[in-house]
Amino acid sequence: MAAQDVDSVAVFDCQSCGACCAYAADWPRFSTEDDDELERIPEALVAADLSGIRFENGRCAALRGEVGKATACGIYDARPHVCRACMPGDPECLTARAAHELELPISPLVGVEEWSA
Ligand code: SF4
Ligand code: SF4
Repeated sequence: MAAQDVDSVAVFDCQSCGACCAYAADWPRFSTEDDDELERIPEALVAADLSGIRFENGRCAALRGEVGKATACGIYDARPHVCRACMPGDPECLTARAAHELELPISPLVGVEEWSA
């Protein structure tokens, strides 16, 4: 049995965050989407220059809810590739969370090896 190591990991709940969706105007941009994917995005949400999702009042126009409280992507199944690529805890996530002064939720994780024993 593994030693009773006490470690900690950051646990991120995107549905109570939304920071990366309210960070930079060029964040919800289009990149490698094909025509079929682009057509699934409501025209009303597309930026005037067609570069991505509209960004207004400091947030992506598709973002629902309140950052740091409860949020959701209004076009989750059709969201841009950059949004799919961002992973909770990655550098972009941490930068966005820091910009919104959201603390890193820390949960104790005891004896990691025991879970797979
Ligand atoms: S900033 Fe991180 S935790 Fe917050 S919604 Fe984006 S990926 Fe999820
Ligand atoms: S499209 Fe959805 S996931 Fe992407 S930035 Fe906007 S609200 Fe967030």
